[in-house]
Amino acid sequence: MSAVTKIRGKVVVITGGARGIGLATATALKSLGAKVAIGDIDKKAVEESGSARDLDHYGVLDVTDPVSFTGFLDEVERTLGPIDVLINNAGIMPTGKFVDEPDQITHRILDINVYGVILGSKLALTRMLLRRSGHIINIASLAGESHIPGLATYNASKHAVLGFTDTLREEYRGSGVSFSSVLPTLTNTELGSGVTTPKIMRPAEPEEIAEAIVGLICAPKPKVRVTMVAGIIAQVVNALPEAVGDALARSLGSGRAFLDDVDVEKRKAYEERVRKD
Ligand code: NAD
Repeated sequence: MSAVTKIRGKVVVITGGARGIGLATATALKSLGAKVAIGDIDKKAVEESGSARDLDHYGVLDVTDPVSFTGFLDEVERTLGPIDVLINNAGIMPTGKFVDEPDQITHRILDINVYGVILGSKLALTRMLLRRSGHIINIASLAGESHIPGLATYNASKHAVLGFTDTLREEYRGSGVSFSSVLPTLTNTELGSGVTTPKIMRPAEPEEIAEAIVGLICAPKPKVRVTMVAGIIAQVVNALPEAVGDALARSLGSGRAFLDDVDVEKRKAYEERVRKD
């Protein structure tokens, strides 16, 4: 069966869909005939992106706020029908030395990247279980299977998303609902601006992550790593004795990529956007 046949008519909600990976995914799914809703905390960006791509529903959504999230899902179901797929994509990645991270930023990373995913999963799963059908796709990161200086809290948040998603998959086995994690490598979006890609690993394009998500919806599986090469390198590093794996990661430049090697000027606009409340 072709991707169009599998995806046409499906109601898909994407959080943080105003730009980057979320918007690329919305665009890909829309072109295959899905009914796509994007929600984002950035009102101007979500309205511009939603109308430019002629998406089926778009509006403000704060994934850390249960009232906002519930209202958004209710509105989507009222206008488009039962939600088939929820993609918990909203996330932020402030970089820097851990001791310099203000508590407010630590809370914000965990609120959006972890609580937002847990909240969205709970709200969608409650609805999907009644229908014995649905798919929850959580955007984690290869940072969820590794440890990268300059990203301690972000790493923790993505490790949490992977553990959470795997646990739901087991807890709701046989329920008719599927659970998947997506693990992108560094990807060319505003989130990665000014970051030097570690050696060997070219950055991905958001369209490549979107393509992997389309593949997941067509044929659900627990995890997909993108790019394939970066995924293999991460798995090899993890399979090695810890000291050897860490030394290999350092030799590829991961120790400096999110600290000394950051182009501060190029990254400034992103850091300002995610650090303001
Ligand atoms: P991005 O900054 O381009 O887009 C993220 C979107 O999330 C933004 O539009 C932002 O306004 C929105 N958002 C932030 N807080 C929100 C909230 N509280 N409620 C709703 N929306 C909110 O980033 P991206 O690169 O497209 O990242 C998307 C996801 O992919 C994130 O979870 C990120 O951690 C993950 N990821 C990104 C990369 C990368 O290198 N770009 C790599 C691995 C994983």
